[in-house]
Amino acid sequence: MDRRSFEHLLTHQSSRRRFLGAGLAAATSAVSFRGAPTRAAGDPRSTRVIRRPQFAAYPFALGVASGDPTPDGIVLWTRLAPGPLTGGGMAPEPVGVCWEISRDDAFSDIVQRGSVTAAPELAHSVHVDVAGLEPAREYAYRFMAGDEVSPTGRTKTAPAADAPLARLRFASVSCANWEHGYFSAYRHLGGEEIDFALCLGDYIYEYAADAPFEGREEGPVRLHTGGEAMTLEDYRTRHALYKTDPDLQAAHHAMPWIVTWDDHEVENDYAGAMSENGDPQEVFLARRAAAYQAYYEHMPLRPSSMPHGPDARLYRRLTFGDLAEFNVLDTRQYRTDQQCGDVGSRCEASLDPAMTLTGPEQEVWLFDGLAKSDARWNVIAQQVMMAQLDGEPSPTEQLFNHDQWDGYPLARQRLLDHLDSAGVGNPVVLTGDVHSAWVADLKLDFDDPASPTVGTEFVTASVTSYNRFGTRLRFLLGINPHFAFYDDAHGYTRCEITPDFWTTDYLALDSVENPDTEIETIASFVVENGKTGAVTG
Ligand code: FE
Ligand code: CA
Repeated sequence: MDRRSFEHLLTHQSSRRRFLGAGLAAATSAVSFRGAPTRAAGDPRSTRVIRRPQFAAYPFALGVASGDPTPDGIVLWTRLAPGPLTGGGMAPEPVGVCWEISRDDAFSDIVQRGSVTAAPELAHSVHVDVAGLEPAREYAYRFMAGDEVSPTGRTKTAPAADAPLARLRFASVSCANWEHGYFSAYRHLGGEEIDFALCLGDYIYEYAADAPFEGREEGPVRLHTGGEAMTLEDYRTRHALYKTDPDLQAAHHAMPWIVTWDDHEVENDYAGAMSENGDPQEVFLARRAAAYQAYYEHMPLRPSSMPHGPDARLYRRLTFGDLAEFNVLDTRQYRTDQQCGDVGSRCEASLDPAMTLTGPEQEVWLFDGLAKSDARWNVIAQQVMMAQLDGEPSPTEQLFNHDQWDGYPLARQRLLDHLDSAGVGNPVVLTGDVHSAWVADLKLDFDDPASPTVGTEFVTASVTSYNRFGTRLRFLLGINPHFAFYDDAHGYTRCEITPDFWTTDYLALDSVENPDTEIETIASFVVENGKTGAVTG
């Protein structure tokens, strides 16, 4: 390592400490280089860091991951867990972990290395916020602890800010219920030549083993372990179970991920501090804190997303040259509770302007960012369907899913009006949640087909999670003319962006019950620069 990157790392690491609460300071601030004496900084009574740990089993059983590419940085993640399903299998002591990032897979051209402390307070997870890298460059990275070396991950930084960019490729995924199938979509995703993966939520499901799932009669393809996740230990074990999957690891090892959560990372259909079944708020917030912490511990997120109790700042913005800006939203943590029941006609209570999915602060942040952006394509990566979807064929009646933007119509109208009035360039909304694939034009007035289209929405299918409607929902395309596509297969969505065109391919698996299943592109849609709305590609 040259002197400049050494100094850079030191400044960088010390600035990181400002984010940390006192209790967690020891967990991530200790930095040293191989051979240097190491103590967890900030706490004079801190335990000595174990430099030469012995493991009962391979400690990198959960693989590695990287995420949130910036023009000069990337987050590298791993967690020491020799016993992934039995509490991690680590003694409650801080352990030194070394990391390396290289221009080549053979690690003969290492550009930075360092060491960090994997602390028991964070389940011996490691989040290295690497800076000082070159833009738009591929790197390989790995970790070492004791005599053990992690698998090698591959990652890529973002292009320089405002630099002309000819092409960006990524794929969105959502909804991967372990019990409903094999993660073949992740295996195929790992083989894609793309810049990053985008996870739009339901990365895990909190349900108990062999839990019933509405409308699903088949037994599980494979079982969750334990009961419904409630405690920090439960959520850690659930994340660890998912991360033992070789297909999921392959997708993380192949590219950086940009992740956000939906409801199942905590509890089905929760809204802010409201649980699904009306638990006392302090009880639910303790559960949310446990779930958020376990999520952070298992994801390649910057320390700025580290939870403080039940609060975590997950919404953020990532920019790729002059081509695209991604606004990654959190529509769970700050939402007001849905009114008018789960599904049904719109009621008076949902027409309150205070009804919100983003919360007022995130809404201001989003509107501000969209208005200021010079990017050719402006992406809103979020969880639940934004386009109005009326399930009632009768013209005088309506049937809406109130967990989606349809339950928050005035907040949606404010956003659509803003896309229009602020002249936001080429808005594209990316969505997950509904376990099916959809394409929609976002209309200024959904009830008037002649109304302007102010954005395009691409909803990705589920990786595995069951879709109880199957092909029966196709009739909705006829009564909601702003929709262009519906499909019930599992898979993922691949997007290619150039200055002139946005192309979205829908990829569908043959079966989620066959681990060797093939995947094929079943539909493609194109948005032309300056012409909002999707046409069949
Ligand atoms: Fe889901
Ligand atoms: Ca969901």
